[in-house]
Amino acid sequence: MLNVKNLTFSYNKIPVLSNVSFKAKKGENIAIIGESGSGKSTLLKVIYGEYDLDNGQIFWNDNRILGPKFNLVVGYDFMKYVAQEFELMPPLSVEENIGKFLSNFYPEEKKRRTAELIEVVELTAFSKTKVKTLSGGQKQRVALARALAKAPEIILLDEPFSHIDNFKKQSLRRSVFKYLKEKNITCIVATHDKEDVLGLADKMIVLHEHKVLAQDMPQVLFKNPKTPLIASFFGEFNIINNDIVYAHQLQVVPKSNLKAIIIKSYYKGHYYLIEAKINNSKVFFEHPTELKKDALVFVEISK
Ligand code: ADP
Ligand code: MG
Repeated sequence: MLNVKNLTFSYNKIPVLSNVSFKAKKGENIAIIGESGSGKSTLLKVIYGEYDLDNGQIFWNDNRILGPKFNLVVGYDFMKYVAQEFELMPPLSVEENIGKFLSNFYPEEKKRRTAELIEVVELTAFSKTKVKTLSGGQKQRVALARALAKAPEIILLDEPFSHIDNFKKQSLRRSVFKYLKEKNITCIVATHDKEDVLGLADKMIVLHEHKVLAQDMPQVLFKNPKTPLIASFFGEFNIINNDIVYAHQLQVVPKSNLKAIIIKSYYKGHYYLIEAKINNSKVFFEHPTELKKDALVFVEISK
């Protein structure tokens, strides 16, 4: 189990993380979310042992994670970290980059493992391709496979799918997180993409103003977003009578006490996002068809 206790950290006296505490059990997938600059990457780096804490403790089972002041070599065998900026060996092929991290002692096993990992990141067709000729997204996938090569007990992923295009993203995400679950590898993933969280993470931790604003199962935070910041992570929302109401929770009805004037309809595929005005304040709701500008409709909150 990962146990982060009262972690406090600053860069040259500028506070970044204050009193952060959470636990991650073996095999759990924990998502760290927060706005850009909220300290997600820093938290992962600190857990990896890249920096010394101002205060607090980090344990992986009975091992205390220590920073460079106490540890000559950064990093531990049981933990792997894939940074936002990844370092690979460009002149080597995809399989060589991954194979570098596997023992040469059992060549057959090495071959099998390399192929397995390349399949997890869906790069089988590029096994023999030199990394320097790959796209940013493909390189990111090689970095992921390489981190998994030595079968860590815990992996820290910093926005692991950020460079990967939408065509590949969904299937790759499922493949990687499925693999981590199968191997019972604990995963801490920093992300600002709700698709990395919903249906995949066991718990999410929201960082805001150096602190943990909330931590719970995604289902719980989605259903009851305590603050607009949390709601904004999940999608378009409104504040109506001091209550947070998602766009999909407002519906057009024949008559109600919420009268809306349509401003604009945005095509979203299987629905339209409608921008409207209720009592001069802007609201968003979802509707199956386009609504014309200046039309009058009644809406109702259905939670
Ligand atoms: P996130 O990953 O959530 O975008 P970061 O952890 O990268 O956030 O950054 C958190 C804060 O720490 C930001 O204000 C950033 O400018 C600052 N910061 C990040 N890295 C360093 C560094 N090496 N030295 C000083 N300040 C840093
Ligand atoms: Mg970051």
